[in-house]
Amino acid sequence: MTAAEPVSSPLYATYARADLAFERGEGVWLETASGERYLDLMGGIAVNAFGHANPHLVKALKEQAEKLWHVSNIFKIPGQEELGRRLCEASFAERVFFTNSGGEAMECAIKTARRYHFAKGAPERHRIVTFEGAFHGRTLATIAAGGQKKYLEGFGPVVPGFDQVPLGDRDALKAAIGPETAAILIEPIQGEGGIRPVPYDFMRFIRDLCDEHGILMVLDEIQCGMGRTGRLFAHEWAGIRPDVMAIAKAIGGGFPLGACLATAEASDAMIVGTHGSTYGGNPLAMAVGNAVLDLVLDEEFLPEVRRKGLLFKQKLAGLADGHPELIEGVRGEGMMLGLKVKGAPADIVAHFRDHGVLTVGAGDNVVRLLPALVISEAEMDEGIARMEAALASASAAAA
Ligand SMILES: *Cc1c(COP(=O)(O)O)cnc(C)c1O
Repeated sequence: MTAAEPVSSPLYATYARADLAFERGEGVWLETASGERYLDLMGGIAVNAFGHANPHLVKALKEQAEKLWHVSNIFKIPGQEELGRRLCEASFAERVFFTNSGGEAMECAIKTARRYHFAKGAPERHRIVTFEGAFHGRTLATIAAGGQKKYLEGFGPVVPGFDQVPLGDRDALKAAIGPETAAILIEPIQGEGGIRPVPYDFMRFIRDLCDEHGILMVLDEIQCGMGRTGRLFAHEWAGIRPDVMAIAKAIGGGFPLGACLATAEASDAMIVGTHGSTYGGNPLAMAVGNAVLDLVLDEEFLPEVRRKGLLFKQKLAGLADGHPELIEGVRGEGMMLGLKVKGAPADIVAHFRDHGVLTVGAGDNVVRLLPALVISEAEMDEGIARMEAALASASAAAA
């Protein structure tokens, strides 16, 4: 064996990481070991819906940590029954499967859709129609579902069974449905794709098409769900009910947790032995998930998210108006917002970071703002002031 060159990091080089590490967090603030404070307007990419170190969530995790961490799904896990029941009561769903991540929740959703038709005597119905710009995860099946070349390249044969059409194109969607189609899969608001909200009438069009063809409507609400848009789930705005839905991110508030929700009919074929997970829904995750739900389901919570989301969007529009040389506009719903920028989003993200504000890029030249849903008006104003200073210095540097 030839000695390899020593590498500078023991980690896979899969991330272009900022040279920045944090030691602690509180609410929307993150602090480095040397005490520098950053305003976190990306919330761990829509994960930290209640900010950092939320006392209710910390308490739930600590209390569970003293009692029981893990037992295996061979046994009943009361926290699962409770969180499952609460999620069903609050949504279209009648059954839930718990996972550790969004990608796994999507895998469960894809398997559920395929198995539904298999059990109905139509195993040829296994194909799923997806949309350009989609992001559904990084597993082999979910990169195929997302259909993005940059994520597929070099990983061998693409998992078959996905047909992609342009977002919003009704004719292409109709044409893509054939005798092998099992489902249509969509994010009500594309996240990684660049905060692209799907028009409500297009969501209803999909629902009608699914009913007409006897296929399933599958949603990916991993990023846009759990209160992010000011409704518990983003599809509620369109007044439709899906058959299957993957969630993750905010449901764990930072603890790894995802879930696949389904109607009884859609999930009837997922019988003993058809699916499983070692960790999915373990007692630690369930304690946190239930605590997150306590907060999200408080009746005053979602109206507040709607109010503050609108306010933040207005403030961001003001910021954008002041810098047409850098920002083209603002898009998104609730606390899922994006600045469409001129040039590379990474540059703007870096300028914001230099001014103590954390944001994250997305496709379609968008800088995403996905703050904790509990952000205060004063914190929004602080963020706007810092971003304003960052844009002013970026413009000055470019001039
Ligand atoms: C983050 C995300 C995923 C993948 O979730 P992981 O937990 O990273 O596996 C899938 N779909 C959407 C819409 C996401 O935002």
